[in-house]
Amino acid sequence: MDIQKIALVTGSGRGIGAATALTLGRLGYAVCVNYRNNRRAAEAVVDQLHSEGVNAIAVAADVSQEKEVYELFHRVDHDLGRITALVNNAGILMPQCRLDEMDAQRINHLLISNITGYFLCCREAVKRMSARHGGDGGGIVNVSSVAARTGSPGEYIDYAATKGAIDTLTRGLASEVAAEGIRVNAVRPGFIYTDMHASGGEPNRIERLKSSIPMRRGGKPEEVAEAIAWLLSEAASYTTGSFIDLAGGR
Ligand code: NAP
Repeated sequence: MDIQKIALVTGSGRGIGAATALTLGRLGYAVCVNYRNNRRAAEAVVDQLHSEGVNAIAVAADVSQEKEVYELFHRVDHDLGRITALVNNAGILMPQCRLDEMDAQRINHLLISNITGYFLCCREAVKRMSARHGGDGGGIVNVSSVAARTGSPGEYIDYAATKGAIDTLTRGLASEVAAEGIRVNAVRPGFIYTDMHASGGEPNRIERLKSSIPMRRGGKPEEVAEAIAWLLSEAASYTTGSFIDLAGGR
């Protein structure tokens, strides 16, 4: 009998996470839709999954908080079963500014949201997937950003640096658990049409930058979700510690 595929997608009430939750549900995963504040959005994703016959739950948890991550994973254990796929997607952006205008409060808020949360969720996933802990293996995909390569000068170097840390986490963890049945990969999107650019203070950012993207357009959340789904699939069975850039050629 096939093992039931169970996915947790952090920050999946909206944007790339929501598209990923829907894509994985259509591929036969039971799905946990995690969110931080926007319950209505998360429940809409779950309603859509239910209407398509997919087993799905919405769970509120701030992934930067250790206790909430612990409770989130226990909800998945209890309601869906032992996780086979983790998509670390929940992330934030702060209003655009130069480095010489940043204060420690802003920087630390980004660090715990975008880095600590990914580490904590990886830890809980490894404890459930690793052969070392009696698990049956699994896949982790970290949502990084092309900002890890470009550094986002004049916009948000702090955000870009958190994504650089995620690339390093991906490389290190992939090697650490490769022999334990877990593959760890990352996607690096750029210029995807979501609410995130409004959080950075420029809702129309992609329109401003479009002409500098080789493909001359922004990307859709679904285009990122497809790459995540492939990295988690058996088709990618020899792929770990790898990155797929989804940024129209940038
Ligand atoms: P988005 O539309 O702003 O959605 C962010 C989602 O993350 C929301 O569901 C939000 O929950 C959730 N979230 C934020 N902080 C959280 C926390 N501490 N705990 C739990 N959930 C949290 O963002 P997006 O554009 O889809 O971005 C998703 C990921 O892709 C991020 O890691 C981002 O850095 C990365 N990325 C995006 C782009 C882009 O162009 N959009 C480019 C490169 C990388 P609520 O709905 O409850 O607020």
